[in-house]
Amino acid sequence: MKFRVSFFYGNGGKWIHTDHLYHKRYMLMKRSNMKTEKCDHVKEIRSVKPSGSGCKECLEMGDSWVHLRFCLSCGHIGCCDSSKNKHATKHFHQTRHPIIQSFQPGEDWRWCFVHEMIVH
Ligand SMILES: [Zn+2]
Ligand SMILES: [Zn+2]
Ligand SMILES: [Zn+2]
Repeated sequence: MKFRVSFFYGNGGKWIHTDHLYHKRYMLMKRSNMKTEKCDHVKEIRSVKPSGSGCKECLEMGDSWVHLRFCLSCGHIGCCDSSKNKHATKHFHQTRHPIIQSFQPGEDWRWCFVHEMIVH
């Protein structure tokens, strides 16, 4: 359903006609811009190859993991925080490589450890 609403923007006293969904998105955008900083670590993303098909350290120790995370600075594959060894987070503390991507099939979200937020 699409319905048109009028909103009053700014001090200029200007009425803008827009549909409801767009207005909601605009307000969300405004709010999130005020709260969160922009993550510029995305610039540090390299086109790297995964270090293997499993967590590097766990494989060496003969241990197991729950989910895998992929370091976008060097290609290190580590296990997530639901895994008991948390090697992806340990990798960040050791190397300060800021951004990981999910290594789960069908998942491609990225996480910045420094800003503690999802990045694109
Ligand atoms: Zn960041
Ligand atoms: Zn691990
Ligand atoms: Zn790394």
